[in-house]
Amino acid sequence: MKLLVTAGPTREYLDPVRFLSNRSSGKMGFAVAQAAAERGHAVTLVAGPVALPTPGHVSRVDVVSALDMLAAVRRLLADQDALVMCAAVADWRPKTQSVVKLKKAEMPPAIGLEPNPDILKTVYPLKEGRLFVGFAAETGDPLAEAQRKLTGKGLDLIVANDVTRPGAGFEVDTNLVTFLTAAEPPRTLPLQSKLDVGRAIVAWLEQRVSGL
Ligand code: C5P
Repeated sequence: MKLLVTAGPTREYLDPVRFLSNRSSGKMGFAVAQAAAERGHAVTLVAGPVALPTPGHVSRVDVVSALDMLAAVRRLLADQDALVMCAAVADWRPKTQSVVKLKKAEMPPAIGLEPNPDILKTVYPLKEGRLFVGFAAETGDPLAEAQRKLTGKGLDLIVANDVTRPGAGFEVDTNLVTFLTAAEPPRTLPLQSKLDVGRAIVAWLEQRVSGL
């Protein structure tokens, strides 16, 4: 398979030194990329700003903002069999970006924001026969939220996790996830390394492709 994986946060700059971002470390997306490369798939990894080495046999494209990530996914998708969106895309960006560092005295009392596009929804018209996988990192009722996103974003699989659970979510090397699809009942995997969660996602994709 040819797989496009996104990972990490995006950064939305206000000026050359200040940005909005989130806690994503990129570990989950890098683990998916590594797991897929280990199985011999051709992997392109679109990475936001993270401090992680590129897994072996993975082609990496670095991006900064959500708009950059969208442009990279749009450009690369045509050649892929599947898209796995692990990235924690920033939902908002500052309305204006200063090219010079804003002086403390010039800082506005509030920052005007505008919404970033939803990458999965934006590239949905290009989906055709491709498999789309999304993530839903939630703090409330992960399954209800994930179900909504599975349908709303037209995904084949959504990987849901409650990021407040010990051993799940940001910065840690393990994850506790549930797979939700349109056709199968939800499947909760045991607490395991992000690499093993990545392997389970790749195995799911392989099964779907061979069953088509
Ligand atoms: O809506 P929410 O951000 O929780 O959805 C999570 C899924 O949607 C993830 O797979 C994420 O990569 C993707 N996403 C996206 N574009 C955005 C925000 C999230 O593709 N702007």
